[in-house]
Amino acid sequence: MHACGHDGHTSILLSVADILSKRQSELAGSVKFIFQPAEEVIGGAEPMVKEGAMQGVDGVIGLHLISNYPIGRVGVRAGTVFASADKFVLNVKGKGGHAAMPHGAVDPIVISAYIITALQTLISRETSPFSPAVITIGTIRAGTAFNIIPESAELQGTMRAFSQEDRARLLRRISEIAHGIADAMGGSCDVQGFDGCLPCVNDASMTELVHEAAAASVGEGNVDSSEEVMTTGSDDMAYFLKAAPGCYFIVGARNEEKGASYPHHHPRFNVDEDAMPIAVEVLTRAAMDFLK
Ligand SMILES: [Zn+2]
Ligand SMILES: [Zn+2]
Repeated sequence: MHACGHDGHTSILLSVADILSKRQSELAGSVKFIFQPAEEVIGGAEPMVKEGAMQGVDGVIGLHLISNYPIGRVGVRAGTVFASADKFVLNVKGKGGHAAMPHGAVDPIVISAYIITALQTLISRETSPFSPAVITIGTIRAGTAFNIIPESAELQGTMRAFSQEDRARLLRRISEIAHGIADAMGGSCDVQGFDGCLPCVNDASMTELVHEAAAASVGEGNVDSSEEVMTTGSDDMAYFLKAAPGCYFIVGARNEEKGASYPHHHPRFNVDEDAMPIAVEVLTRAAMDFLK
């Protein structure tokens, strides 16, 4: 299982569609209901936009249930709320040889160690402390025996950023650092970047609209616009937000008494389903207010 609450999202939007269909005569416009598939592989939104899902859309609103955010709270924040995400693969090539005679070889493991260390300086030395970004190397594959210098090493990592400028710069710099270090040490590096996901950027006036709808649903005191709403996780809702001004917000679904306290993607993930009527109310109110 993906264990993220998307069955909840589907149920929520079906309920909103049911309510708004019954109140269609009160609506001074059209509402589209977008059931986005494949969030877990970051591939649902972009093809839907390409196929015209956002044609004629003036504003877009989306939500995610969050299992480590308390039930009864709604998080609504302007600006970037979800980071971009890009996977990259570095193939470091050296020259294999006997581990006892390193001078006759080019060691891709030592080159990789320098690349990994230097990549962290892209965050600590080149990125503003006021603009969060993350580089993590998640896998290293190299070598077959303790006494052999291998031919190559493969590193896989992910890069997260909160602005398109940081994203583009960091992807370029990852490549420059990897090539530069490998070249300087007598090896080479093949860098593959994979087209990842844009950051989710909320429009100020759409965020205000959702904030008002949330305050009417759960009370102003339970609407949160703090940094807690931000995540270095990513979401391809970003493609809908790029196509029209919009707001992506979060709905708290954590409730320890009901065993709903595990993080997303955890084998024991669960949500407090009492979050669902809250989400239905916020979406319904926001859609109706938007069309007023
Ligand atoms: Zn999800
Ligand atoms: Zn997920």
